Amino acid sequence: MAGAVRGGPGLPGRLREVSRRLARRFGRPGTCGHEIEPVRNLVLTILSQNTTDANRDRAYGQLVKRFPTLHALAAARPSELEEAIRTGGLAKAKAKSILGALARIREEGGRYSLDFLRGIPLPPAREYLTSLPGVGVKTANILLLFSFGLPAFPVDTHILRVTKRLGLVPAAATLAKAALSLEPHVGTGDHVPLHLNLIRLGREVCRPRNPLCTVCPLLPVCPEGKRRKKAHAPVRAPRRRGTPAVGRTGGTTGGSGGVAAGGGRPTPG
Ligand code: SF4
Repeated sequence: MAGAVRGGPGLPGRLREVSRRLARRFGRPGTCGHEIEPVRNLVLTILSQNTTDANRDRAYGQLVKRFPTLHALAAARPSELEEAIRTGGLAKAKAKSILGALARIREEGGRYSLDFLRGIPLPPAREYLTSLPGVGVKTANILLLFSFGLPAFPVDTHILRVTKRLGLVPAAATLAKAALSLEPHVGTGDHVPLHLNLIRLGREVCRPRNPLCTVCPLLPVCPEGKRRKKAHAPVRAPRRRGTPAVGRTGGTTGGSGGVAAGGGRPTPG
């Protein structure tokens, strides 16, 4: 269970501290594998839903090979597109979303381009994108951040898990609610590195099961990590007055190998 949520005025400071600690461990990544051209990024991001990066990239590679231009892609039969992107999973639903989104974009703008969103403020740009088939807040925010350079904050399952454990979002928050509540509090210029570093932390350290709290750079600011550390701390036997300590080798306390007499259980007085 995540610790208490500390929202309000403390949130910007806490996010800044999290970002600083992650940057010290992982650096400050400025970009990722996402396409920059907005419509292609939209296609790639729809393909990335509910699959791994490797499967997404395989599916996208096959799609580009089979349909090199957006015109060719938009003219594809659903069954052809499904076949091309099968390795990415949920091929039927994703093909439907891609073809539906391309049709809407062409219908409304006269061409396969989202450039008309440039210069539009973030909320209406997001509102338009989320009106497209298969596009939720996460997909829209990826486009807004990586293709349009807007301060949107995409939250995926890794970021949701980590920020819940950090007590930055409520335990019941959805991907969309977490994204919208964190976004305005992320520091200027921090949206890209914080997004990418939280994902990396979630994959490598703050895993769904058995998070590696003892080597986590966020432990000093993480209620869940502190709770886990306390729960797993070795229990030491109380010393009787006048008797020497048993089972201690170096006279230090709290070491990982420091098992007290009685198998780590308190000795009855
Ligand atoms: Fe996750 Fe533990 Fe790090 Fe907290 S201290 S962010 S629970 S790995």
